[in-house]
Amino acid sequence: MIVEQVWTGNSFRNFNYLIACPETGDALAIDPLDYNKCLGAAKVKGWTITQILNTHEHGDHTGGNKAMVKATGAKLIAHANAGNRIPNMDRGVGAGDVIKVGSSVELECLDTPGHTMSHICLLSHTDQPALFSGDTLFNAGAGNCHNGGHPSELYDTFTNQLEKLGDDTLLYPGHEYLINNLKFTLDREPDNATAKDMLARYESQDPENALVTTLAQERDVNVFFRLQNPSVVARIKESFPDMEDDPDPREVFLKLRELRNSW
Ligand SMILES: [Zn+2]
Ligand SMILES: [Zn+2]
Repeated sequence: MIVEQVWTGNSFRNFNYLIACPETGDALAIDPLDYNKCLGAAKVKGWTITQILNTHEHGDHTGGNKAMVKATGAKLIAHANAGNRIPNMDRGVGAGDVIKVGSSVELECLDTPGHTMSHICLLSHTDQPALFSGDTLFNAGAGNCHNGGHPSELYDTFTNQLEKLGDDTLLYPGHEYLINNLKFTLDREPDNATAKDMLARYESQDPENALVTTLAQERDVNVFFRLQNPSVVARIKESFPDMEDDPDPREVFLKLRELRNSW
């Protein structure tokens, strides 16, 4: 499996992806909003884009579909329940479905509600797994739930699915928000030395060549994975004094998500 991260450079800071089979040169495009950049990258590599996967129905993820299909004839894949919001889907997928790319790549679909209620993440079946997380999980952050999502469902997705993935899993999110999210982590957990170090090291990183974190790193710097950390709990109790001393992780997650909305 070869992964090409395409930085769009737009104001929403979207990342698009190409996932290619090294044997056949077939490629899957994830959320190819900047279809020109994706097509250009495929051309340089000699790849043929045969499939498109939309992680979810928001316009900054689906906006390139029409032009990409026109240019390549690629088949459009998205969550089975997204059909009324994503026009011209060829295949609807759900939890456990596998998308094959060429002869050597297998991508497992995870049904990950929360950011929206029809959101798919892809997990590669490779020696070192890779997670293509759309707007569910970001570097050092979590997706918002303003446009068709539910924070409680997002918590369930984090707890029941994302937290169970292996430490060495590589994270490929749908947006580049690393620095802003690290600052939120440090606002919530000022003594997080790993987050401080990562912020100093990557503050002026070029998104064309962005840091790819592992889930082990995320567990260290992503406050949405640190719901029982004593500093995080102490700080959140300052904002919500009625909270009990040993709060339920779900409650901490929901309060963090609430604070992040207006941060
Ligand atoms: Zn979205
Ligand atoms: Zn988005």
